[in-house]
Amino acid sequence: MTTSGNETGGTSDVREPGLDFIRDIVQADITAGRHATIVTRFPPEPNGFLHIGHAKSICLNFDIANEFGGRCHLRFDDTNPTKEEQAFIDAIEKDVRWLGFDWGTHLYHASDYFERLYEWAELLIKSGKAYVDDQNPDDMRAARGTLTEPGKNSPFRDRTVDENLDLFRRMRAGEYPNGTRVLRAKIDMAAGNINLRDPVLYRILHATHPRTGDAWKIYPSYDYAHGQSDAIEGITHSICTLEFADHRPLYDWFLENLPVPSKPRQHEFARLNLTYTILSKRVLTELVRGGHVNGWDDPRMPTLAGLRRRGVPAESLRDFVKRIGVAKAYSTVDAAMLDFSIREVLNKAALRRMAVLRPLKVVIENYPEGQTEELEAVNNPEDASAGSRMVPFSREIFIEQEDFMENPPKKFYRLSPGKEVRLRYAYFITCKDVVRDAKGEIVELRCTYDPLTRGGNNPPDGRKVQATLHWVSAADAIPAEVRLYEPLFSTPTPDAANFAADLAPNSLEVVKSARLEPALAHALEGVPVQFERLGYFCLDPDSTTGNPVFNRTVGLRDTYAKEVKAGAKDAKAAGGGKK
Ligand code: ATP
Ligand code: MG
Repeated sequence: MTTSGNETGGTSDVREPGLDFIRDIVQADITAGRHATIVTRFPPEPNGFLHIGHAKSICLNFDIANEFGGRCHLRFDDTNPTKEEQAFIDAIEKDVRWLGFDWGTHLYHASDYFERLYEWAELLIKSGKAYVDDQNPDDMRAARGTLTEPGKNSPFRDRTVDENLDLFRRMRAGEYPNGTRVLRAKIDMAAGNINLRDPVLYRILHATHPRTGDAWKIYPSYDYAHGQSDAIEGITHSICTLEFADHRPLYDWFLENLPVPSKPRQHEFARLNLTYTILSKRVLTELVRGGHVNGWDDPRMPTLAGLRRRGVPAESLRDFVKRIGVAKAYSTVDAAMLDFSIREVLNKAALRRMAVLRPLKVVIENYPEGQTEELEAVNNPEDASAGSRMVPFSREIFIEQEDFMENPPKKFYRLSPGKEVRLRYAYFITCKDVVRDAKGEIVELRCTYDPLTRGGNNPPDGRKVQATLHWVSAADAIPAEVRLYEPLFSTPTPDAANFAADLAPNSLEVVKSARLEPALAHALEGVPVQFERLGYFCLDPDSTTGNPVFNRTVGLRDTYAKEVKAGAKDAKAAGGGKK
């Protein structure tokens, strides 16, 4: 397993608390007596579903609060009603809970503070630190300057306090159409940091807000609302991603110029990037709207809802976040790291079952017609307490098509004419004959079994076989649909600006022909199973009508690493090696 950058932890040892720079800062603040209680927050904007990058932020904020005996708030930064929806608010609450965190009574919204934020804006106007600007958006943008050139003062910058107050109050009263005026902080149009060039505090927006309805005709900018919300809530450590480092001087300006009840300190860390994945709500929204995926909870999506539907346990995400750690340097984490955390949890938890994805019928000629017997199969070799189950065996069974080759290459150890293999928990069988249809396709194998190998044990003569196959009894099997997933993007570093070009053509494969052992009739949503030799699977909510539908959560082995190995594909094309 490889990772790029310096942000990743080891592969086997989970990091201990207190080992990253943010925890070090919190510890130092406590030691210095700066705070009685540590208060953090997770501040999502409800304009989409949460993704695995947010999971990093959620774990960091809630874990720090828990480790230091403080509390973590969930606060919706709901300042843009044109993009925010109640459905997103509900989904975010559900996802944070699912991930294993509890904000108790500390659920807040930036919109709870709209009145106070407004009063503070009037205070800025009264002290000559904010003004109403009538420039149109294009002129405003042009006057902003660039990284190398200073901006230009607005012709409206020197309005009197009274005029500003009057205009701002009328903006609030809804007298003006969208986009005609804004309230700006009066800081410095020549500041090297563009965020300080008279940033917008309020804009006119005639829109219905999910919580405040039609009460407001003006809405605070994110930059104006965010830091003050932290201050109102008494957040001690305002933890965010690096893109906000340049906004910190502006947030500090607000804290200095407003009668805030507390002064939170902001600390920035590097956002999570993952190979084969784009973690941006804008892109995820476009994937959903453009029909590139089947909704926010499509199992190919890096959203928490998608990962959950795919069968990824919350514990795996928490484990993954611990392993990658927290740092200030940008890096991209190998998606194989996530798969590793998923397998770690599922290997211990998943019940083993047998399922055949692409069935090939096998008739066991010397097995009595009409007879069925029940054979014992272990539920989980990693967990003795999981016990065992009985699996029916009969004269006609299905094996996997790819476990048979009529003319096998040298290293193909599975079934072929004249060859003997073990059926897991059942018997040794030997292939005697191949039956074809009119088109020449193989439709059936004729085999014999050795009664002295019952349970899949070696016979008294000590004969050995080189392969063990999974199988299901034909008459007892349950038909099912199985959905196999590949990464949504075909390149490790897809381009967010032109993501459509990097979409993989076959990220979803629907297998309608699957046959399951009868115990899978009792599979439950949210309870992982391992289909022996095929991977980890979970029941999809689509199973409510018709045949059950299973999603493959992850394969049994690291396919990313396999792809890199030269010749792996050729071996696969030739039928694979020993299994
Ligand atoms: P995106 O960048 O995906 O559009 P966002 O930053 O606009 O997301 P918010 O709802 O504002 O989404 O994010 C809530 C919190 O999650 C913020 O504190 C943000 O810094 C953090 N966050 C967002 N993306 C990541 C990421 N990839 N890794 C770590 N933290 C993230
Ligand atoms: Mg954001």
